[in-house]
Amino acid sequence: MTISSIRNYINGEWVASKATNQLEVFNPATSEVIAKVPLSTASEVNEAVHAASESFKTWRRTPPTERVQYLFKLRTLLLENFDDLASTITTECGKTLAEAKGEMQRAVENVEVACGIPIMMQGVNSEDIARGIDEMMIRQPLGVCAVICPFNFPGMIPFWFLPYAIACGNTYIVKPSEKVPLTMQKIFELLEKTGLPKGVINLVNGAKEAVDAIIDNPSIRAISFVGSTPVAKYIYSRGAANGKRVQCQGGAKNPIIILPDADMTMTTRIAADSAFGCAGQRCLAASLAVTVGSAKQTFTEAITETAMKRVVGNGLEKGVEMGPVISVESQQRIEALIQKGTSDGAKLLVDGRQPQVSGYENGYFVRPTILQDVDPNSEIAKTEIFGPVLSLIHLNTIDEAISLVNSGQYGNMACLFTTSGGAARKFRYETEAGNIGINIGVAAPMAFFPFSGWKESFFGDLHGQGNHAVEFFTQTKVVVERWREDWGRQF
Ligand code: NAD
Repeated sequence: MTISSIRNYINGEWVASKATNQLEVFNPATSEVIAKVPLSTASEVNEAVHAASESFKTWRRTPPTERVQYLFKLRTLLLENFDDLASTITTECGKTLAEAKGEMQRAVENVEVACGIPIMMQGVNSEDIARGIDEMMIRQPLGVCAVICPFNFPGMIPFWFLPYAIACGNTYIVKPSEKVPLTMQKIFELLEKTGLPKGVINLVNGAKEAVDAIIDNPSIRAISFVGSTPVAKYIYSRGAANGKRVQCQGGAKNPIIILPDADMTMTTRIAADSAFGCAGQRCLAASLAVTVGSAKQTFTEAITETAMKRVVGNGLEKGVEMGPVISVESQQRIEALIQKGTSDGAKLLVDGRQPQVSGYENGYFVRPTILQDVDPNSEIAKTEIFGPVLSLIHLNTIDEAISLVNSGQYGNMACLFTTSGGAARKFRYETEAGNIGINIGVAAPMAFFPFSGWKESFFGDLHGQGNHAVEFFTQTKVVVERWREDWGRQF
């Protein structure tokens, strides 16, 4: 197996990082080293910012209708290279090929929505706000913007931001997760083929030093971040203190509530996909299943059976329903949390620790795990596990369930399974979470809706995707004009 050397892309050139430190990138299904990623230095980030600042001078003057032509080309290139990108995601991130294809589909959809920028970034105007006076609001780009990405969606998450940022006339820097740098390497090769002018898009690989350089560089006007809550808080507060526009999407602990009248067959299938899909490494993964009243027994039996049957293996292989988790550290952390759950009194219905996956003995696998009678105040009920572990809690009423949801630290997603419209409306109305699912297990907003995390799942105001992205990547300018008719009389 060849080991790829990850390069940066700065000012339209592929450059080897001068960093002396680099990390190994692993295929989590096999534990083989597949790449080496440089931990780029602050000066390399600053070079990228300089290139982006220079490029902004002409890019902002390029008409939006011309700017989106590059996105149309990018869409075609992404579709032509779809399967290769999906298998790269699976190889470095572990999810199944079907999941990786779903991820790339979402990336493409964001490009498609951003192709509407000529309309989406239009301003508004009012004639005659007073006699002979008109007022207008126009949208202008900010300048250089940057995104800092997590490991779990290497192909999709940069696309919640990048297409909108550049279509609005900004220039851009992407800092992928150091755990999964290969997908963005390939996507930047495609971005290069679109013929985008030098410096409009830049790729800098690295970790904390590169992130800190992004936060502290005075020429960066806006930062988007997706990752864990402690890092989100850090980037949000330090970025804001530096006067930047910042949006930070953080971690989650997503509850799903199952009422006795739910369609149990459908609910079980959807709940299992939510909890165990992408090996539980989704910010919208169900992590707590709260059964209400008589739903307990049926749901518990059905989900246990489903969890035990799930086919775990290398995501590149046919028939595999769940891949490994990202790293050996992650595997050990998840196993330690399962242990903590049982020592805090939960009953282990399905134990996914230390599985034997034939042919992949060195992979970082955790099988689906179910803990029953989890104490809502225990660590396992509150901590983001980010692995295929579902905790079952039983309550007597929907009001108790909503109180439990609302008492949580996070507010990324909450779902209800029911056939009652009244219960669904109550849940939608009262629940403190930004993405709500009714008979849906992963309430992921489409590209034309904002990705609306609440509470400690989001720091900022405007979210990623759709109209929110256009607002985030533009600043409004209001112009009030007086033109007296008699000034034109001579003509
Ligand atoms: P992470 O916070 O460890 O890393 C995210 C990024 O921050 C990486 O690029 C990393 O290099 C950088 N980083 C890490 N530590 C840093 C530090 N101390 N200082 C500066 N930069 C630092 O997150 P992860 O493990 O890659 O991703 C998983 C997390 O992301 C989960 O918590 C998940 O819920 C969250 N996530 C949230 C969403 C959402 O939309 N809310 C979506 C996907 C993932």
